[in-house]
Amino acid sequence: MHEMSIATNILEIAEQSMDGHDQLLSISVEIGELAGIEFEALEFCFEALKQSSRYPDLTLDITRIPGKGNCRKCGVSVPMKERFAVCPECGGYTVEPSQGQELRVTSIEVE
Ligand SMILES: [Zn+2]
Repeated sequence: MHEMSIATNILEIAEQSMDGHDQLLSISVEIGELAGIEFEALEFCFEALKQSSRYPDLTLDITRIPGKGNCRKCGVSVPMKERFAVCPECGGYTVEPSQGQELRVTSIEVE
């Protein structure tokens, strides 16, 4: 599953930033709604993953970044729910995502 490899990746990034600490308490991530990730599937995979990791009490804190785009035809900025959206103003298929494709680890809490 796609989300399992993302969950594994997030955990690896956090582990690399632990800097000598041995307990990982929480990981905060920002994920865009246009990043192509199923939020519920990711949470499910992360739960499964942490049970078999060294940090069973680890929590994953997900902040959703809403999708936004700019229409290249008429210039409006529109909210986007999916990657290929129709411009609500002009009906064009020229909306380019400007926000919502991110996936980043913003902070980790260690002990
Ligand atoms: Zn438009």
